[in-house]
Amino acid sequence: MSSVVETRKTPPAALTPPQTPPMNKAATTVKGSTIKDETPADLHLPDNYVAWTIKNQKELPPITLDNLLQNIQWISTAVLVITPSIAIWGLLNVKLRWETFLWSVIYYFITGLGITAGYHRLWAHRSYNASKPLEYFLALAGAGAVEGSIRWWSRGHRAHHRYTDTELDPYNAHKGFWWSHVGWMILKPRRKPGVADVSDLSKSAVVRWQHRWYIYLIIGMGFLFPTAVAGLVWGDWLGGFVFAGAARLTFVHHSTFCVNSLAHWLGETPFDDKHTPKDHFITALVTVGEGYHNFHHQFPMDYRNAIKWYQYDPTKWFIWVCSQLGLASHLKTFPENEVRKGQLAMQLKKLRETQEVLRWAPDPNDLPVISWESFAEQSLKRPLVIIAGFIHDVSEFLDEHPGGRHLLVKFIGKDATTAFFGGVYDHSNAAHNYLSMMRVGVLQGGTQHGLEDKAIPPSQRLRVARYNEAGGSPYASSTAWSDGEGLLG
Ligand SMILES: [Zn+2]
Ligand SMILES: [Zn+2]
Repeated sequence: MSSVVETRKTPPAALTPPQTPPMNKAATTVKGSTIKDETPADLHLPDNYVAWTIKNQKELPPITLDNLLQNIQWISTAVLVITPSIAIWGLLNVKLRWETFLWSVIYYFITGLGITAGYHRLWAHRSYNASKPLEYFLALAGAGAVEGSIRWWSRGHRAHHRYTDTELDPYNAHKGFWWSHVGWMILKPRRKPGVADVSDLSKSAVVRWQHRWYIYLIIGMGFLFPTAVAGLVWGDWLGGFVFAGAARLTFVHHSTFCVNSLAHWLGETPFDDKHTPKDHFITALVTVGEGYHNFHHQFPMDYRNAIKWYQYDPTKWFIWVCSQLGLASHLKTFPENEVRKGQLAMQLKKLRETQEVLRWAPDPNDLPVISWESFAEQSLKRPLVIIAGFIHDVSEFLDEHPGGRHLLVKFIGKDATTAFFGGVYDHSNAAHNYLSMMRVGVLQGGTQHGLEDKAIPPSQRLRVARYNEAGGSPYASSTAWSDGEGLLG
């Protein structure tokens, strides 16, 4: 299939009141709110959707100084500039009372959780079920973070997960830190985000309600409510506005934007390194626990970001407490066994990298097979010793031998297997490994029975092998060979 894919209209810019979703033939009206047909938007995508779209869907012309003004998303930009400007003015001109400071921090966490526990883990990923009171709380708190409606936000975020690091990812980390942080909201993207279905959210009364009243909710929850609390309770109206309103909102904005930028830039990849998401404590600290982003992209339907008890994930703790209070249920976790497979694969990959930079004993198949007579003859010209069926040239080592030169010289032209493995001295594994580096041939007739473990140096008894290198592997077929790239490739 290569039919043209019908894409949705460009989503409204972040932070702007969402438009009513475009009507289509099957649009339905539920309780005064127009919603889309319940047919999933991605049901009829062609198999080659991503490649086809990137190849055939025209990008807008590049942004230059000449067309810059037409390509700025003015409403988002205004919010992103005016809010911190008010905060800076407040910091310079308004006395910060401790009650207002405390309230600003608390409200930062409330509105942050609206995004992380609500928009992100509940609605975008469906990682748990929330009761109606919790849903309304999260919808209101999320509106206070002024980052678009649940529906708009989730649509973008689902596209981010589905098309991570591609041109169809709205916050594509390959376009640079600042693009994924704020650039995509300030400048008009050159391309629409890839198709992502949010028909499930259209069925939610809370999501529809929030989408419908969004403009009033952001004014109310973003500024009026935090100002009113400080004003009515301890009489600090102006402080409430500039600190709990503007400064707090600036922090919430950049905190959650860090999930798209910092979390794709700083840290480790303990579960998979196919894409840019990373795990880092600092990111977790500034994003209310969303910093274990490598885990999250691997297991997006898990209600946790951090899986260890000591890792900082207050969003997870919040959801867990809600479940204990009966406000949330069906908390999803990915099977531990599968999580550990991801970790193991990455650990093996690291070990493989270490293994590959070391020098190893020559492959026995590459060594010449030498008869006893030839060995005896050649050992008259250079110091050759047989151990475990291998012929070793010890000329470089004669004077280095810790037991003394004489013990080695004694065995030139002879079999020293018994002496090496405990007969005279039971050599260390390191000595055995080092010995294997001196191999120059294989004695005709092969290794004596019972000497197999002595023929393999200890450091090579356990090795990290690609699937097509492992002998007897069910994957070691001719097709697997031709691939040449394994999981660890
Ligand atoms: Zn991400
Ligand atoms: Zn996510």
